[in-house]
Amino acid sequence: MKTMLIGKLTFPGGTHPPQRKDLTADSPIQPGPVVKKLAVMLSQHTGAPCRPTVKPGSIVQPGQLIGDSDAFISAPVHSPIDGRVKEVALQSHPVLGRSPAVIIEPNPNIPPKRPRPKSQDLFRDAAELLDKYSPEQICLAVRKAGIVGMGGAGFPTRVKIEPNPRLPKHTMIVNGCECEPYITCDYRIMLEWTEQIIAGIILAKKASGCERVFVAIEDNKPQAIEAVRVALKNWPDTGYIHLVPVKTKYPQGSERQLIKAVLNRNVPTGGIPPMIGVIVLNVATCAAIAEAVILSLPLTHRVLTVTGEAVAEPGNYYVTIGTPVGELIEFCGGVTQKSAKVVLGGPMMGIAVADLETPITKTTGAVTVLTKHQIGKAKFRGRQTPCIRCGRCLQACPEHLNPTKIAHAVKNNRLDIAQDYFLSACNECGCCSYVCPAKIELTGYIKTGKIFLARQKKKMPE
Ligand code: SF4
Ligand code: SF4
Repeated sequence: MKTMLIGKLTFPGGTHPPQRKDLTADSPIQPGPVVKKLAVMLSQHTGAPCRPTVKPGSIVQPGQLIGDSDAFISAPVHSPIDGRVKEVALQSHPVLGRSPAVIIEPNPNIPPKRPRPKSQDLFRDAAELLDKYSPEQICLAVRKAGIVGMGGAGFPTRVKIEPNPRLPKHTMIVNGCECEPYITCDYRIMLEWTEQIIAGIILAKKASGCERVFVAIEDNKPQAIEAVRVALKNWPDTGYIHLVPVKTKYPQGSERQLIKAVLNRNVPTGGIPPMIGVIVLNVATCAAIAEAVILSLPLTHRVLTVTGEAVAEPGNYYVTIGTPVGELIEFCGGVTQKSAKVVLGGPMMGIAVADLETPITKTTGAVTVLTKHQIGKAKFRGRQTPCIRCGRCLQACPEHLNPTKIAHAVKNNRLDIAQDYFLSACNECGCCSYVCPAKIELTGYIKTGKIFLARQKKKMPE
């Protein structure tokens, strides 16, 4: 193992929003709430949604398959508890509006307990045994467990790690940046589940055929860098894993920006990292891979941060997937009188939810409750003035786009011009809106333009 103590590696553009990670950074991972009712979404990933494999009245057990798809790009879903399927019904979805979910009521004879993470001893003890798993076994276990990118994108992990002769992979980057303000769940995982992450990295490296691995952590997390460094030193045969501290800057954890920072390579616009032989896996995804392969456990729980100045007891919790957001907030002491907005994710890229029945999914890394004061500031922000052509949005855009031109085109309903300015290449990071002195909601216009474009494409004949 080599530690590259550089810490200045980064990408061009970006910005530095206030971190506010102090609210939860010292909060160890605690068991989440006992579930009363669960809604397990059938679409929690990029790709084809699952169809239910259970019916109303079906009795389910922990880890039982409840939804699957034959599509290559998809990931199955499982019941986290002993229970009975009440119905398959539409439920509020953080991204899709409303989408089908399997509603499960706990079995009254086997009441669920507060969910607890697995002991790290299980992974330490497995260190010598990882060699016994073949690449095919690892890929199959990852597919069966329904693992998806847990950093937010939700791309099925099996598709990412499986060897593809057309796009051979040589380099794996493990993403421990967690650049979004407020969120600290990956930080806690790196401190508390270090061995589990390393076991997952070794398995993913073997499955993918990558020759080298970089673990990238922002330099505002020295304790996590040290924890990984020590664990790698004590783990046998990990010389191909390089620990890389990178500069603290938003959106450092975005795939394309991280590849630029670590490897100084550009992923082609509109392309994907495997086109240049690279895969990027989040640290929580690596931990889930270890559970899937070593313990044969599907992805039914995850660590997330409940945070924001308007939540009574912010912290990091191990939560059952399918738990309604409202129940989780209640478990954390409820909201204070100052609360105004609930966001799934962080304040830069998160999605505001109106319905507190919206369930936690595999990709929910945080629930952030913002205050009236913060929203008030945002409203003040909303009093926009004309563009003063300062160029700050261009400097901040990590994708080298011209946000003001794209937003102007969308505003004037000229999607053709917006496309000429590479509307689709925007990663919706929010940097342009954040830095704009004229308070123009550039990202909002761009997101709207993308939605209109998708609708237009749907209507077009093949
Ligand atoms: S145009 Fe898109 S990628 Fe560029 S800064 Fe704005 S939101 Fe980020
Ligand atoms: S940052 Fe705002 S004011 Fe400056 S050029 Fe961009 S849109 Fe115009």
